[in-house]
Amino acid sequence: MISSIETDNKCSFLFDYFADNPYEGLIQSKVNLARYTSFKTGGNAQVLCDIYTLKGLKTVVGFCFDNNIPIKILGFGTDVLVSDYGVDAVVIRLTGKDFSEISKIDDTQYKIGSRVSLQKIISITLKNQMSGVEWLCGIPGSLGGLISLNAGAFGYDISQILESVTVMSLDAGIETIPAEKLFFGYRKGFFENGEIIIEAVLKFSKSTYGRINKILTDVRSQRKDKFPHSRSAGCVFKNTQNIHSGELIDRMGFKNIAVGGAKVSAKHANFIVTSEGAESRHIFELIRLIKQKAKMEFNIILEPEIKIWGHENE
Ligand SMILES: Cc1cc2nc3c(=O)[nH]c(=O)nc-3n(C[C@H](O)[C@H](O)[C@H](O)COP(=O)(O)OP(=O)(O)OC[C@H]3O[C@@H](n4cnc5c(N)ncnc54)[C@H](O)[C@@H]3O)c2cc1C
Repeated sequence: MISSIETDNKCSFLFDYFADNPYEGLIQSKVNLARYTSFKTGGNAQVLCDIYTLKGLKTVVGFCFDNNIPIKILGFGTDVLVSDYGVDAVVIRLTGKDFSEISKIDDTQYKIGSRVSLQKIISITLKNQMSGVEWLCGIPGSLGGLISLNAGAFGYDISQILESVTVMSLDAGIETIPAEKLFFGYRKGFFENGEIIIEAVLKFSKSTYGRINKILTDVRSQRKDKFPHSRSAGCVFKNTQNIHSGELIDRMGFKNIAVGGAKVSAKHANFIVTSEGAESRHIFELIRLIKQKAKMEFNIILEPEIKIWGHENE
């Protein structure tokens, strides 16, 4: 059971702080997160902070660390399933200018804030004839979200073009980590202790408008054919070593199977799509059914690729 009063009470310092310093951020209690996620389901964040400045972020993170209050970072919410019972944490969105800047370092390197969308990065690289992100085209996340999960597609992932990443640790210290010290895996980020990604330097290679544009066109057309257009959070499960999870889920006969407002996509079985009236519990139930059958029939343990926030049951 979520102790909302307790969490709100514990954060009274932060409510006062942002009331006095509104240019540093906005703090609100009990905000429904459904509108901030691509599934469009789920319950409340007990506290939601939209942070505009690095100073504001340091204040929240330092306060939560000192008072043992859990925090969660929300990017564009395209890979998160929020429980219907909400999240007992301070949820932070880095929405301000300090996290949205793009600056050129040299001909191939750019420093980019974690709130910048991949779409924006792609348009800049295309304009400046730089290669590196075109294979990821169509992933609807923020740079912070991409780095956090090492998002990727078609055998490419974001870690391949990282030069360095600047993070804030849970005790509000800031550190820039060079690429040679960063180790990523398949859909597995390096920052597993909850560090907050503030910005990163990305290194591209010189190319031509024509070459980049051709890849973008190919990727867009492949994604259009392959992936559903309804509300989703992309692939629900990570691929296993021997079989793509979508193929496995298809073989088990789950395509088009629905629970409430959530359905396994007929187009790509590793996507769960939601419609009006969907609740997170419907998605949880589909996940449970799929995992159970994969274990029973194939002895395969499917691991979610999406991030699950809060508890399935109250
Ligand atoms: C239609 C569709 C297609 C997709 N296709 C792909 C695909 O091809 N490949 C792929 O890899 N993914 C895909 N995804 C999933 C998703 O878009 C990516 O994983 C994306 O990188 C998530 O970014 P986000 O900003 O939405 O992160 P969120 O969903 O907001 O967060 C995801 C995780 O990252 C963490 N996070 C976010 N920002 C920060 C930060 N600044 N610092 C620290 N942690 C942070 C969150 O705490 C959370 O754990 C798809 C999703 C959709 C809806």
